[in-house]
Amino acid sequence: MARSLCPKCREGAVFSSFLKMNKTCPVCGTQFEREHGYFLMAIFIGYLLNAFVFAPFVLYFYFNDRLGQAVIPLMIAIIICIPITFRYSRMVWLYLDQALDPRQ
Ligand SMILES: [Zn+2]
Repeated sequence: MARSLCPKCREGAVFSSFLKMNKTCPVCGTQFEREHGYFLMAIFIGYLLNAFVFAPFVLYFYFNDRLGQAVIPLMIAIIICIPITFRYSRMVWLYLDQALDPRQ
């Protein structure tokens, strides 16, 4: 998953560039987007990833009464992390979906 390989064969690259996904696996031909709107669940996973990464910082600044000063830097950090979140939330969703409903 961390290397962004196909969840079925674990050899083909899911992404052709940093943010551009292949439609199918170049090795086994698996179609990554099973249906229209397939990656909507990846948005939810992206929220969870961001919460997992940034919640400790928010809590730290909150309990030190500095949350007002930290809002802008935290927003900038979250915006900088959007491409990474995009990529890995899709990978988490692809692997989770493959585990729950394996492709034939
Ligand atoms: Zn494959």
